[in-house]
Formats: sequence, C-alpha cells, structure tokens
Amino acid sequence: MADQRELHPLVEGQTSDEARPGRAVVTGGAGFLGSHLCEHLLDLGHEVVCVDNFVTGSPDNIEHLRSRRGFTVMRADVSHGVTVPGPVGYVLHFASPASPVDYLRLPIETLSVGSRGTFHALDLAVHKGARFLLASTSEVYGDPSVHPQPESYWGNVNPVGPRGVYDEAKRFSEALTTAYRSTYGLDASIARIFNTYGPRMRPDDGRAIPNFIAQALSGKDLTVFGDGLQTRSICFVDDEVAGLVALLMSHHPGPMNIGNPDEISMLDLARKIIELTGSESKVAFDPLPVDDPRVRQPDVTLASRELGWTPQHSMTDGLQRTIDYFRSLRSSAPGLVTT
Ligand code: NAD
Ligand code: UDP
Repeated sequence: MADQRELHPLVEGQTSDEARPGRAVVTGGAGFLGSHLCEHLLDLGHEVVCVDNFVTGSPDNIEHLRSRRGFTVMRADVSHGVTVPGPVGYVLHFASPASPVDYLRLPIETLSVGSRGTFHALDLAVHKGARFLLASTSEVYGDPSVHPQPESYWGNVNPVGPRGVYDEAKRFSEALTTAYRSTYGLDASIARIFNTYGPRMRPDDGRAIPNFIAQALSGKDLTVFGDGLQTRSICFVDDEVAGLVALLMSHHPGPMNIGNPDEISMLDLARKIIELTGSESKVAFDPLPVDDPRVRQPDVTLASRELGWTPQHSMTDGLQRTIDYFRSLRSSAPGLVTT
C-alpha cells in the first residue's frame, strides 16, 4: 500500500525541527488559556497569530499584547476554515467553549469547533509542516471509575447526556489528531488539560472558581452544587501554560495529562475562598448538574518523567492571585463582578 503521507492534497513538504520557524498560530487565543499562551510564546521570542471569533473570549484579554512586536490578531471562526499567510512552525488548537455554562448554551458550535474546527486546524499544520498541539481535556475521562486518572484510562462518558457535546467533541478531536499523525506523519501532540484557573477568567463564565470568587467579593452566598463532596484538582494558569509549552516543544505525542494533582472538594474550595477573601458570605446548596463527575485528579507521572514538569504554585498562592485579579476588575468596573 502506498504511503498515505504523500497523498494529502495540502502537504507543502516536511519541515525539520531545525528549519521550523518560530511563528505560532493559537486558535482561541483571545480566551482565558489562549491569551496566557500567546503572551508566554511572545515572551519566549515567538511571533504569534491569535485566531478567534470571540464567542466566549474577549478582545480585553489580548489588548495588552497588541503593541507587542510579532503579535497579530485574526477574527475568524475556525469551524469555517483558517487561512494564515506565511510560514508557521506551531499550531495550537485551543478554540472551543470550555465552561459547562458556555458549552451547554452553544452545543452545536462546541461540536462543530471540536470536529470541523479540528480538521481545519490540522490541515493548516499539515500544509505548513508545523507541529500541532491539541487542547484536549480531563473531560474525556467523564465520570471516572479509575482514580486518579492515568492517560491509559479510556473514560466513562455519556454521549447523549448534556456534557456529551463537549466530551465527545474532544474525544473525536483526539481520534482525528491521532489519525493525522499516523496517516500524514503530522508532528502532533495531545494535551489533556485538567481544571485550570487564574486571571482573565470571565467572572460570569459559570465555572466554580470564578463563581465562588465573584460571589464572595460581592457578599452573596457561594452556590455549591449537590452536597459539595465532588472533587476537582485545580491548576494555576502559569503552571498549566508552562506544562503546555514544554509539551509543545517536546517530541512527545501524548496524550499527556497536564494538571495539578492538588484535589479538593467543592465545599472545601468554597470555604477556602470565603477565608482567603475575608468575606461574610455563606454557602448555599443548589442542585447538582446532570452527569457531573464525582471525582477528578490527574496522574501526572508521564508529564513529570517526560517533560520534567511539575506545578509550582500552591493552591493558596494561585487562588490569592486570582482573587487579586477579580478585585482589580471590581475597582475598574464595579458592576462586572457579579454572578
Ligand atoms: P475560553 O472560553 O476562555 O477560550 C476559548 C476561546 O476559543 C475563546 O476566546 C473563544 O472565543 C474561542 N473560540 C471558540 N470557538 C471558536 C471558533 N469556532 N473559532 C474561533 N475561536 C473560537 O476557554 P479556556 O478555558 O481558555 O479553554 C481553552 C481551551 O482549553 C479549550 O479548547 C478548552 O476545551 C481547553 N481546556 C480548558 C480547561 C480549563 O480549565 N480552562 C480545561 C480543559 C481543557
Ligand atoms: N460547581 C459548583 N458551584 C458553581 C459552579 C460549579 O458547585 O457555582 C461545581 C460543579 O458542579 C462541578 C465543580 O464545581 O462539580 C467544577 O465545576 P466547573 O464548571 O468549574 O468545572 P467542570 O465541571 O467542567 O470540571
């Protein structure tokens, strides 16, 4: 059988690592994680093209980067295609609604960017001879029956439950990335990102940490869903970005868990945020969303062994920095930080 690598209509030619230009395309670059990635790559001396349709991201997240040399912004919906003139060394596919509130409001868009959008981002990488990094998620493990979760665990996802639009889009994007790697020889890697938090999260994006901080700062009850005993393992954004860039610069195909194994129940997290903000707020219990995973914790043995990466920020330090950011938002736009 002929080598399928030669059959892809878009291949311009293989680029060796030595010849690879430092220009990076970041889809979803105006989002929470994407904007930090753009900034970090610029700090490392790369040119960066941010591609975003601003469906959940914001121009404010990248405003401070606009004057940086080598930074370009393209408004485009990756699900419809992505064309970037000139050489590209890296394609980082981060475009996708990520908060449950966002993807439940945008189910078709989420499935579309995970499927069509991933085809387009992969085609761009093949066309340019670029290295490709997929932003996958711990959600591929669903409501896990193995704890903590190693990369070898296949997951427990309900495809027709409300979260299926996100989980299955990401599982499909992993399968597609793997097929491009084996079929076209694409230098591609899959990162499974666990719950990440920090400055530039939208106060109204609906995830637990921005909700709890915004509620604590405005003296409202913190809305803990269910009995609050479900756990997440939370990673400060600077640590997450360091791990993702280390994976990007490596030759490892993944999938690789990138997250902080620091596990906490949502009730304890709410109490900790009340304590750190010095708020008078109380905890209020609301119904648990359908299919909400009971536990989640990354096994990061692989990342630590292959990349020498481990998270550096303690939970207290990361939360304090995030609280400071939300406070600064409140002082610049007092009406903004409410939920
Ligand atoms: P976010 O919503 O802040 O950022 C997503 C960005 O993608 C936004 O700027 C949005 O406008 C853009 N986008 C969405 N659809 C698009 C489209 N069709 N075309 C162009 N741009 C589009 O979310 P985030 O938390 O920064 O997540 C970024 C990526 O990381 C997502 O792929 C998400 O699945 C993944 N991830 C994040 C976490 C986390 O804890 N933050 C965890 C696991 C995986
Ligand atoms: N959660 C909560 N209160 C909120 C928002 C979320 O108790 O105001 C819970 C949610 O049910 C889940 C956990 O916090 O068990 C983490 O939710 P998040 O949306 O941050 O992330 P994900 O569910 O995608 O891991």
